[in-house]
This record gives sequence, C-alpha cells and structure tokens, in this order.
Amino acid sequence: MKYLFGVDLGGTNTKIGLLSADGNILLNKSIKTNSEMGYDDCFNRIAEVIKKMNIEKKIDENDILGVGIGIPGPVLHQEVVSFLANFPWKKNLNVAKILGEKTGYRVKVDNDVNVITLGEIWQGSAKGYSNVIGMALGTGIGGGIVVDGKLVGGFQGAGGEIGHMTIIPNGKLCGCGKKGCFEAYVSATGIEREAESRLTVNKNNKLWDIISKKEGQKVEAKDVFDAAKLGDSFSLDIVDYITEYIAYGLSILLHVTNPEVVVIGGGVALAGDILFDGITKKIKKYSLLACIDDLQILPAKLGEKAGIIGAAALVVNR
Ligand SMILES: [Zn+2]
Repeated sequence: MKYLFGVDLGGTNTKIGLLSADGNILLNKSIKTNSEMGYDDCFNRIAEVIKKMNIEKKIDENDILGVGIGIPGPVLHQEVVSFLANFPWKKNLNVAKILGEKTGYRVKVDNDVNVITLGEIWQGSAKGYSNVIGMALGTGIGGGIVVDGKLVGGFQGAGGEIGHMTIIPNGKLCGCGKKGCFEAYVSATGIEREAESRLTVNKNNKLWDIISKKEGQKVEAKDVFDAAKLGDSFSLDIVDYITEYIAYGLSILLHVTNPEVVVIGGGVALAGDILFDGITKKIKKYSLLACIDDLQILPAKLGEKAGIIGAAALVVNR
C-alpha cells in the first residue's frame, strides 16, 4: 500500500493527516500553528508529527508518495507562497523546498480553497469530475477553479480569487480596499452587514426576535437563514438578495470555464436547500443554456476533513 500526507495550515491550528492512497485518513493530529515563532519552527514541528506518524504505522519510507499542504494565500507553481494572510512570515517563501528538506519527501503546496476543491473532486461532491468550480462562503469568499482536471493558479497565483471580483461597480466597500467585491455582498460578513442595515429601519420581524434575545444582539448569517426558514418575509427578502448576487457572480464564472459541477462549502453553505434552491433558480436568468445545461450546484461534502484530504489530493493530482 502507498501513503500520503495532507497538511492544512491555518491561522490558529494546523491539521496533519496520514492517508492511504485511496483517500482514507488513517491518523490525524492538530497542532498550534504559532506563526509568531517563525516558519522554521512551524515546519520543524509539522515534520516531527509526520515522522512520528510513520513510526506509529510502521510505514516503509519508499511507500510515501509525498506531502501536500494547503495555505491561506496565493501560491506560485505549487511551491512558493507569495504571502500568507495574517502570518508574520517573509514573502515568497518556498514552502515546497523548506518542508521537503525537513521531511525528505516531495511536497506540493497550494492555496487552501484550491486544495479543498481538489479534495471535493478526489473524495467529495465532485468526485470524478474534471471541470469544477469550488466556492467557500465563509467570513470571506474563496474559490478554486479546476479546468480539465488542472487547478488554475495563473501568473501570480491569484487565479480563483473569486471573492474580489467586482460584481457592482463602485458598490459596497470590501476588506481588500476595493469597492463592489463579490464577498462584500454574499460572504457571512456581507450578509450580516446587509441584515444589520435593514434591521436599523425595521425591527418588526422574526430575525429581530432572534437577535434581540442574544447577548450583544449581534446578527450572524445563520440567524438570517433560520428566520427565513420560519417563513419570516423580512429574512426571506434578504435570502432572495443574497442568492441573486451569488447566482450573478457564479454565472460570470460559468461563462469563463463552463464547469460540470459547482461545489459550495463554508459556513454559509450550511443553510442548505433554502440557499441552493435560490441559486439554482436564479442562475438561469444570467446564464447561457450551454453553461447551465446539466450543471450541478452541490454542497461540499468533506466538511472539517476537507483541508487534510484536499492537501493530500495535491500529491495525486497531476
Ligand atoms: Zn475585495
């Protein structure tokens, strides 16, 4: 049997998994990233965990196919990380080389949402498909674009940064400094902003009933969907607004890459049918028939394990 390692490097925690070549997680461990201690320290500790896992499973070194690692930032040629969002590490860090030297294995690196998309193709909702768009709807929006089985990284590794596509010229301000970005509208943060602004003028609704009982009275995206599911017309209208923009943003991508499957993950996707039905219905309005004929829009399947499985998928992906 052959084996691979998947590493999910996060801002707070780093998950490391040992997988069989057919995608089963055999061992997994979470360690603190402690990025403030420097990259050398962090990669030393990751290499140490990998070594211990090998010993625990008594694996022959020759049966290890390699290590894949997902990173929050743009990555060049699956080797060099241009920069890591919120890490005090130097720019243009050759993570493939550094971790390769520390472990002794071949290492492939990619952006975390790219990696998750590959994982969904290898073991999740998009299993077996080679033209896929992955979208993570969380605090921000991340994207992974796979065309003919290959991830689109592009010139500077920014391919798939769909959260910062302008969908409204001079629209709402985004965290990146631009205006009108996709994620300013439909990320969890965008949804919360929209709900809060509407609540300032109308509190006669089920969403306010939910929020007013909470400590701090802070809106979370989930509350909007929960109230909408109770039939609250105020919240249904917000969901309508969100699904409209998701459908619109996705339709742009459909015309560029013509995927077979769109996989949507992240916290917002947990809203379920109310979100997916809205997107599926509205996307028709913005898309050529050839772009939506037989298109499937599916929730991501791998959940918490997506980072590890996806990183390992890098090793088996050409
Ligand atoms: Zn932006």
